[in-house]
Amino acid sequence: KGERLRLPPWLKTEIPIGKNYNRLKNTLRELNLHTVCEEARCPNIGQCWGGGEYATATATIMLMGDTCTRGCRFCSVKTARRPPPIDPEEPYNTAKAIADWGLDYVVLTSVDRDDIADGGAEHFAKTVSCLKERNPRILVECLTPDFHGDLAAVETVTRSGLDVYAHNVETVRELQRYVRDPRANFEQSLGVLCHVKRVKPSVLTKTSIMLGLGETDAQIHSTMKELRNSGVDCLTLGQYMQPTRRHLKVEEYVTPEKFAHWKEVGQEMGFLYTASGPLVRSSYKAGKSQQLENGL
Ligand code: SF4
Ligand code: SF4
Repeated sequence: KGERLRLPPWLKTEIPIGKNYNRLKNTLRELNLHTVCEEARCPNIGQCWGGGEYATATATIMLMGDTCTRGCRFCSVKTARRPPPIDPEEPYNTAKAIADWGLDYVVLTSVDRDDIADGGAEHFAKTVSCLKERNPRILVECLTPDFHGDLAAVETVTRSGLDVYAHNVETVRELQRYVRDPRANFEQSLGVLCHVKRVKPSVLTKTSIMLGLGETDAQIHSTMKELRNSGVDCLTLGQYMQPTRRHLKVEEYVTPEKFAHWKEVGQEMGFLYTASGPLVRSSYKAGKSQQLENGL
């Protein structure tokens, strides 16, 4: 109890900062937009925002505020039963800002808004259509909540014109109750991903699992298998990092070799692409990997 594992060398990274980074940061502040990249202090921010060697700039924009109606035990986002109302202008303002940045790929995500009737699905959809109107070439991924299993809400987002629909199962099936808010569960999340494929098979689906929460190899394997058998296209696996001492402890720092192993397993199982590494996040190099593998 209270004992914390030492940070292994492969997780001690420096955050490189480029020109594009400062430009993005400034407009974000002016427009009062939030990004997961900043809120979660994501170590990949220099690469994602700058494009870097991959020459594909990506950012993850948070819609509908910075306060969530849920409280997952791994997540540092603020929680409230009734967050402030959503800004109806946000879809237009976000689209306007992003269209001018020259991003190739953008990820739109949000906190869970169980206080709103459709969970914010319409808000997501509006943002996608505004964005595509201004910049038809930009690839858009939505990383959505589970909408409490409301499949009509999932359908609204699926039909919005997006390219990739992401929803994270976050952890193996066996640890769902321990890691996620009790309102979330594996079936419900899988249900979201399956419904996307039923509504529009050409939309790519994607999910993400954090490792290092105490899951066993057999559990990882069977969770991956189940995701693939359910038709999920893309998978990312990354290391769980404890945001503060009040959050779930890291049980294990999974080695880069082990992550490479899971990448191979994912490829053998037939995922369109599997990104797996200590620093891989749901949206990491999202643009580049998906464009490469799918000729989008
Ligand atoms: Fe942002 Fe995702 Fe890149 Fe991190 S990995 S900087 S959250 S786009
Ligand atoms: Fe964090 Fe999402 Fe859980 Fe809300 S639902 S606490 S944003 S992980």
